[in-house]
Amino acid sequence: MSATNLPWGRIELVEGDITKQEVDAIVNAANTSLLGGGGVDGAIHRAAGPGLLAECRPLGGCDVGSAKITGGHNLPAKHVIHTVGPVYHGGDKGEPDLLAGCYRTAMQLADENGCRSIAFSAISCGVYGYPMADAARLAMTVVAEELAKRPKIEVARFVLFGRDALQVFTDVYRDLAASRS
Ligand code: ADP
Repeated sequence: MSATNLPWGRIELVEGDITKQEVDAIVNAANTSLLGGGGVDGAIHRAAGPGLLAECRPLGGCDVGSAKITGGHNLPAKHVIHTVGPVYHGGDKGEPDLLAGCYRTAMQLADENGCRSIAFSAISCGVYGYPMADAARLAMTVVAEELAKRPKIEVARFVLFGRDALQVFTDVYRDLAASRS
């Protein structure tokens, strides 16, 4: 399928805090333990309350590039999809395939759990060091491809932390949605 035919209109970009999103699922940039951490992971666990950690503990962690789903507990979101992005080591250590796996698995879990809306954080773009423009291009391409295959998911929102992140995603989005292939 050419990029022009992908459902770019079902992707939204907003600046904000993912813990505040009223969607069926939010996607957490977790670590392999699934037991909480810093960055967006810490913010999600703080807002969700201790029930989230209690639900994560028996899950046995998660592989890089994969994802697991839990309830949203005290969050406005019904579910949290915990995915583990790759640590960036220059881009030739399989990072793109692993990051694509995060977005694909999250979309699959959302679909299987009847989610009609999903909100993503910028996975691997914090302490894991993935260059944001590269991550944005990959993330939005994979999500647009998944949306095309999954008509029940009406909207995928990227929730960007800060104006700079929103600008990077917006520039890449315009480029992708306008591309002819
Ligand atoms: P990773 O370890 O996968 O790099 P981080 O949590 O360090 O994950 O960062 C991922 C992205 O999430 C970064 O762009 C960071 O600025 C952003 N972020 C941090 N807190 C929040 C939040 N509350 N809502 C949305 N995005 C957030």
